[in-house]
Amino acid sequence: MKIIMLGAPGAGKGTQAKQIADKYSIPHISTGDIFRANIKNGTALGEKAKQYMDQGLLVPDELTCDLVMDRIQQDDCKNGFVLDGFPRTIPQAQALDAALEKIGQSLDYEIDVDVPDENIVNRMSGRRACLSCGATYHVVSIPTKVEGICDRCGSEVVLRDDDKPETVQKRLTVYHEQTQPLIDYYKKQNILKSVDGTQPMEAVFEAITQILGA
Ligand code: AMP
Repeated sequence: MKIIMLGAPGAGKGTQAKQIADKYSIPHISTGDIFRANIKNGTALGEKAKQYMDQGLLVPDELTCDLVMDRIQQDDCKNGFVLDGFPRTIPQAQALDAALEKIGQSLDYEIDVDVPDENIVNRMSGRRACLSCGATYHVVSIPTKVEGICDRCGSEVVLRDDDKPETVQKRLTVYHEQTQPLIDYYKKQNILKSVDGTQPMEAVFEAITQILGA
């Protein structure tokens, strides 16, 4: 099953993608996580990506596409994958389609987790992330067991620079300009499915599993 998740930053697509990956035993591929791991490890890619991420801008397609194309051709992706945060532009979507076509495959579902902008800004200010293992929390809806400490690895959880209100506003503008056109792109391919992302997390996941089947 090859799935891509679409939605504004903070719509909850990452949380849902992780659950989908667990339920259907397919890898969860998050380009944001890949960039953050590169930043943490001080790689050249990380250094370049950080300049864009800190400003709420997209990392250029030429730094993003090859990375994903290599990843989806690895062995663990033979039964599918759930892509979270990619594609984010029409050229990225075209690159993905072309790469899959070359190996005689195509996407099965594009799931749009729909949340209005006004809900997003509130949500993001409460989001906390562990920069060591990538786990994400929310001070109200998904709190850590011990305040400020990651449940999974015990490191500190923080408000990511790109989750700060001024950057979130920029990311939303970028989302509407560059990523939202993908909704029409996938509508034309008849694989677009929309879920109401304002519902509680469990209800969103239930709606997604109804789309994907048991
Ligand atoms: P995310 O964790 O998916 O919200 O991504 C965090 C940041 O990483 C984004 O705001 C972008 O700067 C960058 N990023 C992640 N995925 C992509 C992508 N597919 N294309 C360009 N930039 C990306």
